[in-house]
Amino acid sequence: MSQTGKEKRQGAVKQITSHSNPIVKEIKGLVAQRKHRSQSGLFVAEGLKLATDALEAGWQVRYLALGPEARENPVAQKAAATAKARGALILEVSTAVMSAMTRKDNPQMVVGVYEQNILTAKDITPAADGIWVALDRVRDPGNLGTIVRTVDAVGGSGVILVGDCTDPFAVEAVRATMGSLFHVPLAKMTKDEFKPFAKAWPGTVAATHLKGAVDYRKPEYAEPVLLVMGNEQKGLEDDMADACATLIRIPQVGQADSLNLAVATGVALYEIRRKHLEL
Ligand code: SAM
Repeated sequence: MSQTGKEKRQGAVKQITSHSNPIVKEIKGLVAQRKHRSQSGLFVAEGLKLATDALEAGWQVRYLALGPEARENPVAQKAAATAKARGALILEVSTAVMSAMTRKDNPQMVVGVYEQNILTAKDITPAADGIWVALDRVRDPGNLGTIVRTVDAVGGSGVILVGDCTDPFAVEAVRATMGSLFHVPLAKMTKDEFKPFAKAWPGTVAATHLKGAVDYRKPEYAEPVLLVMGNEQKGLEDDMADACATLIRIPQVGQADSLNLAVATGVALYEIRRKHLEL
């Protein structure tokens, strides 16, 4: 429902009391199933902070559901007025309906439904001092959300999902981004699209790898940087590793086989972005 280039329609306010209302069913479907999110191009983000982040960043809101508490809250009221002015339908619901929509006993006072936004390889023009993180078949929504949040924290440019990844618009992934989803561009590529993309990359292409020969603190990391991370169980596929000029390793001394994917990404990002990060 993009309104770009068109006159913006003012939204409306609707009270919903019935659990069997079609919009309640639609939101339930978006929470529960990737199929519904993919078909509609919509997703659900819970909470007032995420609603204000989304609105500030200019994301398109389809519905903003307000529980009883939100109707007394000035920040929620302001978010609702902004969303309505941009064409969203504001839903005034009971706590029980909010619970049913989100499948949670203690639902947030605000739940938003937003239009998905995901880039492809041709949309990416690396900024001269930027860093993109590419994730090979990331499976865990918590890891993905944490990585998006960390990329935001280091001033990174975006996150690329390569191959069959978990849904970045799943409620758990969105929640783990803590709002950074609305500030960090996401892109999606197949492995066959990624390999030429990495080859044409103008700066450093570095992959973290348990067999990496280079200590991650040693390279110069000419910018822009493309940091490539492997799958939680299987690591980085060989042909993906071959597409990367440098394989870096984070030293370990204890008995752990490897670091958690999101932790390894954070450790590498803070080293690579060192010169951009000053208190
Ligand atoms: N069994 C997998 C393997 O053999 O690679 C472990 C994967 S690890 C949980 C997930 C990803 O985190 C790895 O593919 C790599 O990108 C990164 N990683 C974790 N620990 C690392 C380390 N010590 N050095 C470099 N990369 C690491």
